[in-house]
Amino acid sequence: MQYRRLGKTGLKVSEISLGSWLTYGGYVEEQKAVASIDKAYELGINFFDTANVYMRGEAEKIVGKALRKYPRSSYVLATKVFGKMGDGPNDQGLSRKHILEQCDASLTRLGLDYVDIYYCHRFHQETPLEETLRALDDLVRQGKILYIGVSEWTAEQISEAVHLADKKLLDRIVVNQPNYSMLHRNIEAEIIPVSEKHGIGQVVFSPLAQGVLTGKYKKGEQAPAGSRAAQKDLNLSRLLTDDNLDKVEQLKSVAAEEGLSLAQLALAWILRQENVASTLVGASRPEQLEENVKASGITLSKEALDHIETILSV
Ligand code: NDP
Repeated sequence: MQYRRLGKTGLKVSEISLGSWLTYGGYVEEQKAVASIDKAYELGINFFDTANVYMRGEAEKIVGKALRKYPRSSYVLATKVFGKMGDGPNDQGLSRKHILEQCDASLTRLGLDYVDIYYCHRFHQETPLEETLRALDDLVRQGKILYIGVSEWTAEQISEAVHLADKKLLDRIVVNQPNYSMLHRNIEAEIIPVSEKHGIGQVVFSPLAQGVLTGKYKKGEQAPAGSRAAQKDLNLSRLLTDDNLDKVEQLKSVAAEEGLSLAQLALAWILRQENVASTLVGASRPEQLEENVKASGITLSKEALDHIETILSV
């Protein structure tokens, strides 16, 4: 496993990291969740991701319990705040009250004294940015969080937050968590240039497009039993379009030429971006991690990158 600096910070994170959305506390039974987390750790993954809102706290409990047996200094743990955690008017968003209360609630569920990265899961229009930044800065000063991140904010919102933090001498954003994969390239135009300018690193989520970029879903065929797309409450139809599945078939031949699986090709392709610190995968089984971690350290040939570009640009 190779490690990269998170933006301009001194923190090093594994090129492949492991998340817990939908899976842990969700459709993956606890024993398999813990086995996957243990396998990740054994393979050199030092970066784990969760959120208060994932299965309303259940994911945090499982991730925290699984990691507790390892030295705290040996892993980097991230969680998030924003999503709805109750029915009251203050049970979501980025108000000072909600952030401070939710951070304590997350620490309790995780069984930890601090989290390494605390993300604003989305931008909150109804809270002044300064209120949010001051609450996060207070958490840094209290030692409850070490670094501040955001997820799915626009380039403009990120820039505004950086400038405001600098002006008010508050701790600033050092990490962004966007959706990025071969099938979703929105961040290339604005987010990456703005992040580079401000020393912010990307930790990209759904790098395998929720499993579509492993090649296991095929046009006209039913989703394999037990896969995410086969879960009765989950709908991947937005991703499982004919256009995407045609691209996946063509990408498989590039992967074969490079001697890689499609998942490895998709992750190595993301890691070609120097601004990406880590690709944040999910895993329903330990074997998936054994396959995915092999993407770390791979440099794709110019021919492969050109071929991929041709396929994706159609
Ligand atoms: P991926 O795109 O990596 O999809 C993960 C799923 O793909 C797995 O659960 C598994 O599903 C399948 N898979 C993974 N590897 C393989 C393999 N080698 N072979 C076959 N199938 C494989 O990422 P996610 O969409 O799960 O997102 C990753 C993490 O990002 C989340 O856990 C969460 O922490 C974070 N996230 C953050 C968001 C945000 O708003 N900030 C939003 C979404 C995610 P299965 O086997 O069940 O089919």
